[in-house]
Amino acid sequence: MKQEIVEINSKLTWLDTESSFTELNFKRSSGIHKLLNDRMFDIGGLEESCSGSDEISEGPLSSITVSSEELNEQCIICMKVICNPKKLKCGHIFCGECINQSLRFKQWCPACGLVCGKITGDQPPGKMTVKQTQGFCTGYERDAKISITYEIFEGRQSECHPCPGKLYKGIIKTAYLPDNEQGRNICRMLRVAFERKLVFTIGNYRTTGQEGLITWNAIYHKTDNRPYTKFGYPDPTYLDSVTDELKRKGITLDDINPSDKLEGIITSD
Ligand SMILES: [Zn+2]
Ligand SMILES: [Zn+2]
Repeated sequence: MKQEIVEINSKLTWLDTESSFTELNFKRSSGIHKLLNDRMFDIGGLEESCSGSDEISEGPLSSITVSSEELNEQCIICMKVICNPKKLKCGHIFCGECINQSLRFKQWCPACGLVCGKITGDQPPGKMTVKQTQGFCTGYERDAKISITYEIFEGRQSECHPCPGKLYKGIIKTAYLPDNEQGRNICRMLRVAFERKLVFTIGNYRTTGQEGLITWNAIYHKTDNRPYTKFGYPDPTYLDSVTDELKRKGITLDDINPSDKLEGIITSD
């Protein structure tokens, strides 16, 4: 059976949360080492809270394939030889007990800072419609255009929001992406973001002092169809920067299937 050899990086660096918000999307390795099956742990014990900001919840089961050299590695938490190894997606391995305890306090890998779990937000219920349309985004003249329309329904703030019970107005926003491979994958990642309630939040507009409005939640969208406008194209850095913003919310290409149908409507409650 093929063993996956992972590099052990024993740097003791704790990155700050800002730079480390990447989801660990645990995948079952095809080459699970049978002898280690009984040593598998899942990531547990992460308490759900309701603070109104993005939250990290329990991740799916992580499987371990560890080579014999790795078993003699030192756990950077307890500084002893690793026992009951548990491997995070980043490849870092710790004693199961050590990492479980660590994750109870800080939900990221102690060695490299990757977030261990899925981040979800407090986006109110709504609908996301994706269409492949005529026309193009300036700067991507050879590609057609993807339009994404979000509709967030009017409602009352829930316990997760700043003023529970307070009424908020619904909104409809349309955003655009070039219909090329990168644009399509970003669209698929935005769909994951929408399902995880990360695209919008309820906040206040500092500039106008208005409270309890539906606002974008730090994933920048191109909402202006007209060229050379503040929120439009061209913008050669946009596709990379929004990919980065999605990554900070824990969403990467690992979370999507590039052959998934693009057009369609999804709802989120
Ligand atoms: Zn340990
Ligand atoms: Zn790591």
